[in-house]
Amino acid sequence: MSDSSKPVSRRDLLTGAAAATLGAGALGACQASPGRQWDQAVDIVVVGSGAAAATAAVIASDNGDSVLMLEKASTVGGTAAKSAGVLWVPDNFTLRERGIEDLRDDCLRYMARFAYPERYDVNSPTLGVSPGEFSLLEAFYDNASPAMDRLRDAGALNLAEWRMFALDRPATDYLDNVPENKVPAGRALGPVDAEGKMGLGTLLMEQLHAAINARDIPVLTGHRVVRVVLNGDGRVVGVEADKDGAILSVGARKAVIFGTGGYVHNPEFISKYQRTALVGACAKPDSTGDFINIGGAAGARLGNLSCAWRSQVVLDEVLVNRVLGAGVFYPPGDSMLQVNRYGMRAVNEHRNYNDRTEIHSVYNPSRAEFPNQLMFMVYDQRTAEAFAGVYPIPSKPADAPAIAGDSLADLADKLDARLAEIADQTGGLRLDPAFADKLATTVARFNGFAQAGRDDDFRRGEAAYDTEWHPVFSPMRADTDWPANDSPNITMHPLRDEGPYYAIILAAGALDTCGGPVIDAKARVLDTQDQPIPGLYGAGNCIASPSREAYYGAGHTLGHAVTFGYIAANAAHDETPAGADA
Ligand SMILES: Cc1cc2nc3c(=O)[nH]c(=O)nc-3n(C[C@H](O)[C@H](O)[C@H](O)COP(=O)(O)OP(=O)(O)OC[C@H]3O[C@@H](n4cnc5c(N)ncnc54)[C@H](O)[C@@H]3O)c2cc1C
Repeated sequence: MSDSSKPVSRRDLLTGAAAATLGAGALGACQASPGRQWDQAVDIVVVGSGAAAATAAVIASDNGDSVLMLEKASTVGGTAAKSAGVLWVPDNFTLRERGIEDLRDDCLRYMARFAYPERYDVNSPTLGVSPGEFSLLEAFYDNASPAMDRLRDAGALNLAEWRMFALDRPATDYLDNVPENKVPAGRALGPVDAEGKMGLGTLLMEQLHAAINARDIPVLTGHRVVRVVLNGDGRVVGVEADKDGAILSVGARKAVIFGTGGYVHNPEFISKYQRTALVGACAKPDSTGDFINIGGAAGARLGNLSCAWRSQVVLDEVLVNRVLGAGVFYPPGDSMLQVNRYGMRAVNEHRNYNDRTEIHSVYNPSRAEFPNQLMFMVYDQRTAEAFAGVYPIPSKPADAPAIAGDSLADLADKLDARLAEIADQTGGLRLDPAFADKLATTVARFNGFAQAGRDDDFRRGEAAYDTEWHPVFSPMRADTDWPANDSPNITMHPLRDEGPYYAIILAAGALDTCGGPVIDAKARVLDTQDQPIPGLYGAGNCIASPSREAYYGAGHTLGHAVTFGYIAANAAHDETPAGADA
């Protein structure tokens, strides 16, 4: 293995003066020495092996480009292999087969309305967002369905309409209840096996990696790309990867495409970029945001760094290990509500995970605190038994992570005692002295709403999302003696007048983050003058998300990762090859 590069800082790269020295494993960029020899050279280097990277590799190979995939972990598939494998794809083939029109202008309005609510303007040619932002919305709509069709035609993915698990209906979008959403259900696809059986992210990634193997694309696991290499013109012409302390250099005649995931497991970045901590996440631990320092050193503009695909998480699980199996995607139960440290509700508990979790970040300027930093999911014996074992409700009512109390006042005492035990890890957060009284008032008010079937405070159960996803994530046990919920609003049921009651402590977490180098509609990474950095591409959670923080519907992140991986491979194919010697 060779290392003839001279590592330099971003400023040195931009001015052409090479001086600074990086350690062998340090992330960044370096300039190629004249006549540099590579250990290997291909047309396109793909970094990562999740959904974005695997798509880029398959498409690049089918375009006739030689490809090498470099993956940091010892196995391939990334967080995508741990996911449910759902892909959000507007105007997809299943909609077309059913004669449902998902028109471009309508869908663009839905996406702009959801992603930029504060600027959305139906009368503006770019719907109120900047031309660059709008071009990313357009690129997604224009390429998502063709990307899936291309992968299907290539035999790389077998997809079908994603049905809501046991329910026989298509997935409802995460903001179905705005007039801009003209196709509120049916945009989600999922991977199916040869018998047509729907699978999860493991199947999605097995299929993509089978396609990679079938194309003889070399995949080097255990290789962490630490630097991009630039030539004298500022073009990215290769990478350096760290394998157990040794550097492998790989030349990229056309491009390097990053699909390296977010930074949610990089505590330093969480502290730098997230105002309220994301205390835990279900992404794989390799999501450390390497592309932020690598792309930044190559001169990339960074964007959306404070953004994430959010989910509430169970604090008591996080205190054991911040790498989680899952988030609280939909808090189960009907006789259940969430309150903050003042005993007040703050959110529709059955809104989608990404939007619901935003509530933890609300700041109270008078008290200089985040009153919803922790939320307490409070429920009664009905929910504890009728929804037992539906995550995160334990199989036995009083088992961890549930805290039990004989009455609401007793529950408040037990909850506060637990908060006292973990105070050194929560900034000393405790219940307000009036919590118990307020909780009783809040439960009484909630019970009134449940009886009336209408939540006047947070509109729980009003949107189709709330009710359609309820039986998916909140199924009542078939063996329960508790009567079915015959309320006009199936997401709500009054809490019982008697205890015991239970609480689970929830905090803000994420699937992964979605900020990083900014790309254009061709998935080219932009510099600080908004010009493409030649030869450098990105897709998936490692780049500034094209939807900012909006999660359009089930499969949003994988839909974007695959689509922009496809766009990147096609645009990279059109690059004029650089000389193999850089
Ligand atoms: C439980 C769960 C369920 C989910 N379900 C869904 C779902 O159904 N639909 C959906 O849209 N989203 C879902 N998500 C989110 C989704 O999994 C991620 O958003 C998606 O995997 C992101 O894809 P990606 O290609 O950007 O990155 P990843 O899948 O995270 O892959 C990134 C890869 O890059 C590698 N890497 C990182 N740094 C380097 C480096 N320096 N050099 C080389 N390799 C590197 C990593 O090891 C990893 O393999 C779910 C997530 C979880 C945890």
